[in-house]
Amino acid sequence: MSMFGKGEGPAIGIDLGTTYSCVGVWQHGHVEIIANDQGNRTTPSYVAFTDTGRLIGDAAKNQASMNPINTVFDAKRLIGRRFNDASVKSDMEFWPFKVRGVDNKPMIVVNYNNQEKRFAAEEISSMILVKMREIAEAYLGSTVKNAVVTVPAYFNDFQRQATKDAGIIAGMNVLRIINEPTAAAIAYGLDRKYTTVGGKNVLIFDLGGGTFDVSLLKIEEGIFEVKATTGDTHLGGEDFDNTMVNYFVQEFKRKHEKDISKNPKALRRLRTSCERAKRILSSSTQTIIEIDSLYDGIDFSSTITRARFEELNMDLFKNCTEPVDKCLKDAKMDKSSVHDVVLIGGSTRIPKVQQLLQEFFNGKELCKSINPDEAVAYGAAVQAAILGGEGNIEKVQDVLLLDVTPLSLGIESDNGQMSVVVPRNTTIPTTKESVFTTVQNRQQCVEFPVYEGESIIAKQNRLLGIFELKDIQCAPKGVPQLNVCFNIDANGIMVVSAEDKSTKKKSKITIVNNNKGRLSKMEIARMIKEAEKYRFEDEENKKKLEAKAALMDYTHDMEEKIPSLRKLKRADKKKYEDEVAKTSRWLDENENRLAECKEYEDQKKKLENVCNRIIGKMHQNGCG
Ligand code: AMP
Repeated sequence: MSMFGKGEGPAIGIDLGTTYSCVGVWQHGHVEIIANDQGNRTTPSYVAFTDTGRLIGDAAKNQASMNPINTVFDAKRLIGRRFNDASVKSDMEFWPFKVRGVDNKPMIVVNYNNQEKRFAAEEISSMILVKMREIAEAYLGSTVKNAVVTVPAYFNDFQRQATKDAGIIAGMNVLRIINEPTAAAIAYGLDRKYTTVGGKNVLIFDLGGGTFDVSLLKIEEGIFEVKATTGDTHLGGEDFDNTMVNYFVQEFKRKHEKDISKNPKALRRLRTSCERAKRILSSSTQTIIEIDSLYDGIDFSSTITRARFEELNMDLFKNCTEPVDKCLKDAKMDKSSVHDVVLIGGSTRIPKVQQLLQEFFNGKELCKSINPDEAVAYGAAVQAAILGGEGNIEKVQDVLLLDVTPLSLGIESDNGQMSVVVPRNTTIPTTKESVFTTVQNRQQCVEFPVYEGESIIAKQNRLLGIFELKDIQCAPKGVPQLNVCFNIDANGIMVVSAEDKSTKKKSKITIVNNNKGRLSKMEIARMIKEAEKYRFEDEENKKKLEAKAALMDYTHDMEEKIPSLRKLKRADKKKYEDEVAKTSRWLDENENRLAECKEYEDQKKKLENVCNRIIGKMHQNGCG
C-alpha cells in the first residue's frame, strides 16, 4: 500500500451525496466499498444536534422525526450557493431546520447543547466527510488523510471550491474533486474497455433519493468530456414513496373512514413502510404493508403489487426519459451514437425505470453490474488509488485524470456581452488568456467582472467576482493591451489575473480569495478549530454515555439480586435496598442531562461498596 507520508494511510474515494454518502478504498487489487458501524454500505448525509451531543449518519437520520428542527440534511443543496439563490429559497420551504442569510451566505441555525449555533453548509458537509473517513479508518485500522471527493457535473466553481473547503475543515487533504458521472464511468472501466475511433459516448443515468441527473460524457484517450448535463433537482425515490403513501392514505379513508393525512407520526410510519415495500417490489411482484395501531388504535395491513406501484408512478417514471432526450439534443447526438448507458443511484433498481430506459435506447443492454449506490464511490476510490501512487496496478494504469469545465467562463465586456475566455468543456487543468483594452482615453483603471454561463449577455450568467486592474499606462482608448489569464487547476478551481502588457509592469490580481460567499481563510481556520472541538466533545459524550450505561447496568443487576437476599439480616437487606433505590432515583433525576463521567463512576463506586460488603457477608455466612 503506498503512502503519501508517514501515517497518512491509503487515499480513499468519497461519494458525498445529497441523501446518502459512500466511501471506498482500493485494496488487494480491487475496490472495497466500506460498511459503516451499522453494517450499511451507504451512510445518510445527516447531522443532528441534541442537548447531549452531535450525531452523524444513521444515528442522526433515525432520530430525525423526534428532533426535526435540529436534524440537518441536504447540505449539498446549499453548499457554494448564495442565500438569495432561487433554489435556496424554494428548498427552504421544505426543510424543517432553519436557514438564515448572513451576508447573503446561507447559514443553518440549530440548537446544540442548549445553545443557538450557526453552521455553514461547508461545516455540515465536513462533519459527514469526517464520518466517512472514520468509517474507512475503522476498516483499514490506519489513519486516512487523503481523499478524492465527487460532485455533480453541473457544480460550478463556487460549489466545487466550497466542497474542497469542507474537506479542509474536516482536516483532510482533498486530492481532487471529480465529477460523479466521470467516477461512475471509471468504475465500469469504460475508459479502457475498448478503443473506439473518435472516442466513446457514455450516458450516465443517475436517479437517487431526491435528485435526478443525466450526463453525457465523451471519453477519448482517457479524457472525460462532459458533453451535456440535464435532470431534475427534485425527482427521486422519495417521490415514489410519496405516491404510495397517498395511495394508502386514500385506502385507509375508504376502509376506516378516517383521515390520517394530518397526523405526522402516522404518516411517518406509513412512509417508512412504503419505502421498504418499494424496495421489495424491485425484486418481487407483490408485497404486504403491515403497521400495528397506525391511527386511532387501528392496525393497518394491505398488499400492493408491482403493477399497481408502477401505475401509481407512471407519470414520474415517464418523466425520467425526457431529460435523456434533452441531454442528447443538447449534445447534438443521436441515441444510436451512445456506446454505453450507465445506471447509478438507488432508484435505478426499479425494473420499470430500467425497462423504459432500455426501450428508449432500442433494447440496448444497460451497465448495472456495479451496485448503483456504490458506483460513484467505486470510481472515486480508483481515482484515489491512482493519485495515491498505485499506478503500478494494471487495472488502473491507463486512467488519465482529466476533467472539463462544465460552463463557459469569461469577462463582461463594456457592451454587456459575455466575452468567453475559457469555453465550456475545456479540459482542465488549463490556462487561457485573452487580451482586453480600455474604452476611454487615459483610462487608468479597468474593472473585470468574471462570469460563468452560456448566455451571450453576461448579466444573465452567474457573476463569480469582480476585480480591478489599476495604474494602466496613460494612453488613448483601445491602445493598452490588458492580458487576462484564467488558470484552472485539476480540481476545477480558478484564479483570474490581469496584466498590462504595454507597460510590461506586472499588476496581477486574483479573485479566488475575494469571492463573495466563499469562506475566508480565517473563517476556515475557525471552523477547523471548532470541528476539532466538536470531535472532542463527541468523544467526551461517548465516554459519559458509556459511564452512564455502566452505572445503569450495574444498578439493574443489583436490583435483580434483591430476591436472593432473603436470608440476610433485615438491617443489611434494608441498607442494600435503600442504596439501590437511591442510585435508581439519582439516575431518574439525571435522566435528561448527561453528567460528568466522574459522577457516574462515583455513584457506581458508592453502590459497589455497599453491595459488595453486604453480599460478601452473605457468602461468609454461607447463605448464598
Ligand atoms: P441514493 O441517493 O442513490 O442512495 O438513492 C437512494 C434511493 O434509492 C432511495 O429513495 C431508496 O428508496 C431508493 N432505493 C434503494 N434501493 C432500492 C430498490 N431496491 N428499489 C427501489 N428503490 C430503491
